[in-house]
Amino acid sequence: MVVIPGNHSYICDLLVPYLKIGGILSMTKPIIILKIGGSLIAPKTAKKPTVDFKTLKRICMEIGSAYKKIKNKKNLVIIHGAGNFGHLIAARTGIHRGIKSEKNLIDFAETQRLQNQLNVIVTKELIKNDVPAFPFQSSGHAVMEKGRLKKFSLAAINQLLKTGVVPVAYGVPACDIHQGCSILSGDEIVPYLAKRLKAKEIIHATDVDGVFTIDPKKSRKARLIRMITRKNFYSVKKALSGSLGVDVTGGMKEKVSLLSLRVRAQIINGKKNNLIKNAILGKSKQGTVIEL
Ligand code: ADP
Repeated sequence: MVVIPGNHSYICDLLVPYLKIGGILSMTKPIIILKIGGSLIAPKTAKKPTVDFKTLKRICMEIGSAYKKIKNKKNLVIIHGAGNFGHLIAARTGIHRGIKSEKNLIDFAETQRLQNQLNVIVTKELIKNDVPAFPFQSSGHAVMEKGRLKKFSLAAINQLLKTGVVPVAYGVPACDIHQGCSILSGDEIVPYLAKRLKAKEIIHATDVDGVFTIDPKKSRKARLIRMITRKNFYSVKKALSGSLGVDVTGGMKEKVSLLSLRVRAQIINGKKNNLIKNAILGKSKQGTVIEL
């Protein structure tokens, strides 16, 4: 029963149908986690914080169009990377290594402010496309230890999902009990939330077609690994850990840690039109599909 205090029967009349249809009181629906790589929206080649608006706008349109169709059946959590909004300031200040001087306190605050700025841009585009994109600053909920996520309070994100919005988290500098501060990357937030929110599916949109046998930007011999299933799980896992000659480096290394979660996941190329939209709609098996 919903008890709304006071004698505001008109408010009750307005609210109760909404609450019943899928608002505040709805059960949490199956959750899709979509990660938008920083490489897509703020390419690392830039010399100052720069957004690729053309790509961002197209991606947000795709998300908006898919969200309209799934919103009554599924919850969506979006996490975006920092791209050049994070890498440039980290390289300049060394803030990812912790607080080593009083000046680093300013760097810590400025790094967070920059990430918020990118998040404002991303959520603005999503809201324009009718996605109730709710900025979610993970560093307000997280504690790190030696650069790894130690604790993340889920109370607020759980309630936001029940309320019916789309939390949009992002890579941030967060407090670290060992070194003062470290970077909580979008790629680290993904498996943490996927496991604890019991997500049904993870979609990683990045700037290459999926997981290859070697970085495709470095070798023409790279071959796309299309499918990871129960059958080839152990051989692929062994391969990805190096012993069979598969070379996964950088950001892709963190993404393939999804294997140990055993959640359905897709690693797709967000630079290609409609792949993100179709992945949210469950329409296509593009890129690397992990189905265990
Ligand atoms: P994002 O910012 O989209 O999360 P990252 O730069 O963190 O992307 O990770 C994607 C990058 O990982 C690709 O651009 C690619 O150059 C690199 N990479 C390294 N090894 C591999 C691999 N085996 N397969 C695919 N990509 C790889």
